[in-house]
Amino acid sequence: MAAGKDELALGIDLGGTKILTSVVDADGKMLSRDHSVTPATRGREAVIQAVMESARQALKEAGISPSELTAVGIGAPGLSNPSTGVLYTSPNLPGWQDVPLRDIIAQELGRTAYLINDANAAAIGEFYYGAGRGAHNFIYITVSTGIGGGIIINGELYTGPTGTAGEVGHMVIDDNGPLCNCGNRGCWETLASGRALAAEAKRLIKKGTSTTILEQAGGTIDKVNAEAVHQAALAGDKLASRLIARNAYYLGVGLANLINIFNPEVIVIGGGLASIGDMLLLPAYEEAGRRAFKQPYKAARFARAELGRNSGVIGAAAYALGQSRRKT
Ligand SMILES: [Zn+2]
Repeated sequence: MAAGKDELALGIDLGGTKILTSVVDADGKMLSRDHSVTPATRGREAVIQAVMESARQALKEAGISPSELTAVGIGAPGLSNPSTGVLYTSPNLPGWQDVPLRDIIAQELGRTAYLINDANAAAIGEFYYGAGRGAHNFIYITVSTGIGGGIIINGELYTGPTGTAGEVGHMVIDDNGPLCNCGNRGCWETLASGRALAAEAKRLIKKGTSTTILEQAGGTIDKVNAEAVHQAALAGDKLASRLIARNAYYLGVGLANLINIFNPEVIVIGGGLASIGDMLLLPAYEEAGRRAFKQPYKAARFARAELGRNSGVIGAAAYALGQSRRKT
């Protein structure tokens, strides 16, 4: 990002299981990094306290006082409105409803703060400093337990009037499909996410299909996860390979929709499930190619996320710096 070389922001990536905070400069460089566990089940006050502890630790590690920060950026899971700074609701933070998270953090640190969805933050991180560099029309997808996304149009994050745009994981792929956490049926994340992969594996194991997936999970059905399926597939298990091919198929169906609707230059895929790599992604790209219009498909480049677990914290900081420049 241009200008303001000496500007610093505190990035906060608040997840359902972990909190990551970092002092980040205007080049996207992390000057510190604090990682802690989200006490999600202990409620809102405990989580906010944990965020503040992590923030103070990241500031201390970077040798920075809050007054030296230009702004604070918070990426949080669930639906939030960047213009009001309110987190509406979050499946990963039980009991949170219409929390003015931006203002709470701003007050604690005495600095201007900005709130966005965690996947949108990661999209911004990849757009400025990762695999989306140089593009103007860009889509980021994180495929992990669920599927999240961020959409950049003409170089700007598209948020929509309520700030909730980019929920690609909830586009309906099969109207009679599995029930989603959101209440609908057949959302993309019920068919192509890590949770979907594990659920289908468990269903078939319970039906008695022959497979080594259960061994990979230590013999306990509740421990069957995407990683166990991946490991079994690598070891030549036929069912595991079929399950990954099924996920790839549905991933490709969703990608085709995104390509036809947005005609993006780049689609960057991150998240834990994407680390399965070519076994999952190549057939997904091929399926997208069979379904999307030829011209936008040819024009779209697929890339793996480059910033790994740091895309959200770097993106939250970059968003905060970008927004604060806009105000001045
Ligand atoms: Zn849904």
